[in-house]
Amino acid sequence: MYQLTTQMLAGRVCAYGGEDLETETAVDLGEAHDADGVLIFPRACHPCAAKAAKAARVAHADDCAPCRDKRTLCEIGAAFSRIERTGRQ
Ligand SMILES: [Zn+2]
Ligand SMILES: [Zn+2]
Repeated sequence: MYQLTTQMLAGRVCAYGGEDLETETAVDLGEAHDADGVLIFPRACHPCAAKAAKAARVAHADDCAPCRDKRTLCEIGAAFSRIERTGRQ
């Protein structure tokens, strides 16, 4: 796990690439807790989120029969796939 800056943890810049974020285009990565138990709100820009979602979906599909056949994505695969599509808009 790489080190996130305070700005990344607060969702002010992209958690992957460190780009500045616009509230309208930022992808919410959900609440999480950092190593000290502090609640954080990481966010990412669309290109980075889409890239990360694709990598996660491909890795997930190795262990998931429905997701290996792209037409029958499971709930997890579908969620990744949704983020991928958002990134292309
Ligand atoms: Zn980014
Ligand atoms: Zn799956």
